[in-house]
Amino acid sequence: MLKTAPSISYLDRQIASCLLALMILTACSPSPVQEDSATDLSTSIAIENVTVIDAENQIRENYTVIINGDAITHVGPSTKTPKAGTTIDGTDQFLIPGLWDMHVHLSYDDRFTDSMPATFLKYGITSVRDTGGLLKNMLPLVEKLKAEGAISPRVFFSGPLLDGRFVVYDGKSRPEIGTSNDNIQAARDNVIMLKKVGADFIKIYELVSPEVFAAMVDEANKQHMPIASHVPLSMTASSAGPEVGSMEHLRNVELDCANNSDELLRIRNETLNNYQPGSGYALRASLHKLQRIPAVLDLDEAQCSKVLTNLMHTIQVPTLRLNAFTLMPAFEREDFSEALKDMGNDVQTDWAERPTWFDPDPKLRDQRFAEYSMAMIKRMNLAGVPIGAGTDTPINMAIPGYSLHNELSMLVKAGLTPLQALRAATITPAEFFSLENEMGTIEVGKRADLVLLNENPLLDIRNTRKIDRVISKGKVVVLF
Ligand SMILES: [Zn+2]
Repeated sequence: MLKTAPSISYLDRQIASCLLALMILTACSPSPVQEDSATDLSTSIAIENVTVIDAENQIRENYTVIINGDAITHVGPSTKTPKAGTTIDGTDQFLIPGLWDMHVHLSYDDRFTDSMPATFLKYGITSVRDTGGLLKNMLPLVEKLKAEGAISPRVFFSGPLLDGRFVVYDGKSRPEIGTSNDNIQAARDNVIMLKKVGADFIKIYELVSPEVFAAMVDEANKQHMPIASHVPLSMTASSAGPEVGSMEHLRNVELDCANNSDELLRIRNETLNNYQPGSGYALRASLHKLQRIPAVLDLDEAQCSKVLTNLMHTIQVPTLRLNAFTLMPAFEREDFSEALKDMGNDVQTDWAERPTWFDPDPKLRDQRFAEYSMAMIKRMNLAGVPIGAGTDTPINMAIPGYSLHNELSMLVKAGLTPLQALRAATITPAEFFSLENEMGTIEVGKRADLVLLNENPLLDIRNTRKIDRVISKGKVVVLF
């Protein structure tokens, strides 16, 4: 207890999984059965005298939480505690639900794919939403990560980004994680196929037409699949947002909030409709470059309030650590170089240096989009728009797991309370999948994903990094 520095940071990436597997065996060997009972208590684990914190029940002091297998079986004051096979003394410690990262790409860069699941767990991320990867990469990976005994967070995946006639991530200028949906029938067929192969939700991307968007939404609703989406460039946040469960990166919200939003949309649609076959990435980049900052500078307060009223039931996953990267770049964080040691040598070399295009003086960086993103989240949070925590790991220097804690810090910097930030990484992602009765809080009947902290996260959200141990699917997987 009350140790702060993780002692397994020396672990080499290649052996991390094996050692973690070993830890499971040693940490979970139950003590002898202590009482006779109809249920087998030998496999149960009690965390006693702990302060239990979740975004629904808030703070419960001096409590005992018992898990048995992958379920929480008891939550109550420590004065009256049933016996358990193994006991952990949680005095002066804080127990929170396992964290989610709502926006990751497990297969985006194969330098990360193998080590990512164990690294997520090390940082207390017990569930991830994979928001885009080709099925040929994702299906074998998901099968491996869902196998009995796998060292992995729970994985929920969308399959490829469902893009339009052109594809942004087409494997040419960018990795291939998107797929084309040229017409309504292709869109419907793709959604049906994704359901068949076991995808948990769909991810709609930026270059789809309004007709294709409508077909995807309709088919996903028929197939009972939740929908995550970038706002397509052919649409507004007000029209696309209410149709989907989550919106990513605040994408194109600024275009809808601009004084001349109608004119901006007209220009975008003209460009999209007249685009000659070419790079989807270049097309998107040109439109963002043309319209994003002018829109931010021409934000109309009243117009924006109207936009937000349309988003009251759509989770915003702003990925602030990405959107506001210029305000708080990863490599300027004091613990970044330590966290980087868990990555492979090639990644360490790539990420050790500040990118040459990045000005060391924050005042000389263009902070307009970063500051807009922070202000927009503050505004959305005050308005009651639901907010989810996601990182886009590993894109743009996002160390798996570590970056989720940075996202929580950014959400608090933007104006969320620490408890609201915890909600964004626990209950809100569970709600996206209608799993709020199974995950997201510490209550009897919920799944056994828990993080034991040495410091109080409500006093300082950075305390979510001060991890003593992580319980994933009922097993203690990481001991520091
Ligand atoms: Zn992404």
